[in-house]
Amino acid sequence: MAYYFDGGLDAMILGLSFIVLLFVCVVLHEFGHALAARAYGIRTPDITLLPIGGVARLERMPDKPWQEFVVALAGPAVNVVIAFALYLVIGRDLHLGDVAAVDRGDGDLLSKLLAINIILVVFNLVPAFPMDGGRVLRSLLATRMKYARATRIAASIGQVVAVLFGILGLMGNPMLLFIAVFVFFGAQQEALFATAKENFEEARIARVMQPLPPVLTRGMTVLDAVQLAMRDPRHSYPLVDSGLRVLGLVPSAELSGALHSHAGDQVESLAKRGVVSLPVDGSLLQAREVMRHSDQEDFPVTNAANQLVGYLSRSDLPEQFIEPVSNGLPVAHGAR
Ligand SMILES: [Zn+2]
Repeated sequence: MAYYFDGGLDAMILGLSFIVLLFVCVVLHEFGHALAARAYGIRTPDITLLPIGGVARLERMPDKPWQEFVVALAGPAVNVVIAFALYLVIGRDLHLGDVAAVDRGDGDLLSKLLAINIILVVFNLVPAFPMDGGRVLRSLLATRMKYARATRIAASIGQVVAVLFGILGLMGNPMLLFIAVFVFFGAQQEALFATAKENFEEARIARVMQPLPPVLTRGMTVLDAVQLAMRDPRHSYPLVDSGLRVLGLVPSAELSGALHSHAGDQVESLAKRGVVSLPVDGSLLQAREVMRHSDQEDFPVTNAANQLVGYLSRSDLPEQFIEPVSNGLPVAHGAR
């Protein structure tokens, strides 16, 4: 009986060590993506570990196809390195078959780790979103066609792969079935996102901006401005010079605050300077990028001569689309 417990404990420790080390490999995989992304100036706010793998949430996706190619491959490359290092350590005593023993809790730990890293590489390179292989495929396609089209084609291929996974899953591997569903909808989401991004790229700011708002000019008093604001309530008002060039923004909250004690003051004194403007012929994608890096609520829209022609508030942008995350879908369970 004591032997049984000893054996059980050993097996448990081996099993736990394996799971911990597996997650270390998954984290390193995600760090591979994150480091490659950082080389292109893209930050990774966080890395999440899920029961089925890890996700490195990149601040944004690389714009250039070959950058995405490198970022996508950097994760699996880490597992290649780990596998190679383990191979050097293990040498002749390699028992790759031990991966099958994961659930049994026996077998050689390092061999199992090596095997799981190979599986991580192979599985992640399956050409289906949200696996890295899907991104590799998309980036290769994107060198020859528009990003959205490349994504739709890669997504369709991914969905075919998902259906194949599903069929295999139905033949007795519930985890594979689960992954098939995950991949199928992941591909769909990726295609929708790419189409939304394309729309954002093609739509001009001019199409969604508000026409010229009431403007404040130098020489106006706070009282003048309040009277104007009462006729056309806004969150803020641009202050312009005689050539319609934007000097600053006056928030309406400042106006009402100044009305009691400073009604006769120049409204110019309330203006916030250093205002960020948007180009009227810019895309909504550009507008979204500018908004992301600014704390302004409203943005003057200007023409090539720097004259105010419209106004864009955050709420004027069509429904925001959410960047999908870089993903390492592993496998540990899928390998069973
Ligand atoms: Zn990955």
